[in-house]
Amino acid sequence: MQPFDLPSSVPVAFGAGRLGDLGALATDRLGPQQRFLLVADPFAVSAGLAERLSQGLEEAGHKTALFSKVVSDPREGDIDACAAAARAFSASAVIALGGGSAMDTGKLAAAIVGTDEGSAAFALTTKPFPGNGLPIIAIPTTSGTGAEMTAVSVFSLADGTKVWSWGPELFPKLALLDPAVTVSLPASLTAATGVDALVHAIESMTNRKAHPLNDPAAMRAIGLVRRWLPRAVADGADLEARGQIQIAACLAGAAIAVNGCAVAHGLGHALGTVGHVHHGRAVGLSLRVALAGNVAATPERHALVAEAFGIERQGRDDAALAAALPEAYDAFLREVGLEISLAGDGLSGGDVDRLAAACDTEENQPMFDVTCRNFDRAEVERLCHAMLTAA
Ligand SMILES: [Zn+2]
Repeated sequence: MQPFDLPSSVPVAFGAGRLGDLGALATDRLGPQQRFLLVADPFAVSAGLAERLSQGLEEAGHKTALFSKVVSDPREGDIDACAAAARAFSASAVIALGGGSAMDTGKLAAAIVGTDEGSAAFALTTKPFPGNGLPIIAIPTTSGTGAEMTAVSVFSLADGTKVWSWGPELFPKLALLDPAVTVSLPASLTAATGVDALVHAIESMTNRKAHPLNDPAAMRAIGLVRRWLPRAVADGADLEARGQIQIAACLAGAAIAVNGCAVAHGLGHALGTVGHVHHGRAVGLSLRVALAGNVAATPERHALVAEAFGIERQGRDDAALAAALPEAYDAFLREVGLEISLAGDGLSGGDVDRLAAACDTEENQPMFDVTCRNFDRAEVERLCHAMLTAA
């Protein structure tokens, strides 16, 4: 078994309507009269969530300022603009409200606010954070990235290269999970983000750093997504389904906070760079083409995944049980309506070289290396081709 370190987990407040409690929760966690920079994405602003949050905080005696220029797949300049807004407001804490991009922006901006260096200086852990960052409260409005539980921020450099920063400073001081704030997420995004949570759980259970303390959380997340995501996709207002998927994303996020992802995230990030495909869909499609090879490499681990996914053993040994997983996974992606073909994204088999080159980079290669099997260039190209020509 591999050695491991279990980082301290993020405190969680869960429940429909808990957004209204944030003023008191914030006072409890961080003390009275805070100055919160509220980092909210366009969805959180247009749905009125940012305004509601701000009102509740002001009524509890805190001051707030809104940073609403959160963009999807933020670049270094977007993060630096957010950090500048926190400095200009003399913020004492940051609240990230929105999907993965709002979390990535708010977390990283909070960590670098006390330095005059830009976010690019901290890409790929080239240097540690200055250590004088602001505390973060994370309030996800999607259920998938699990960024509320991790010490990672994903962003792009000015040239479009996707990178990440890591450090314990990025752990939120509180994650507030309110299923009611996710009800207006459209079905396609509900599916893509839910699949992201599923892939996190599977990859954390099966990569080379997998360890048994992580298994219960990851297996529970897999079972919850399998059971509840179709319902959340079919009826976005189903608060029970929404809440169960939030718990799944949170558990899977806590799992990857310990031992990270694998090939589906290396290949998926490359697909995001090359084709601007949504992260959840990109990693879902990537695992779809990589899964059979992964299963063959570690059937025992994938038998656990298959069991968590609800595949009945029916007297089969681990290898036979695990071998049923790729087909069941493919059927599940189709059941929740994930678009398998990339033709509508302007991609085809002619893009294999470009996609394979994007996998072979300093930021993506580590996720191939930590996968439960070895990859040579021919295998990477085979995966790229299978994904680009899938129907
Ligand atoms: Zn992911």
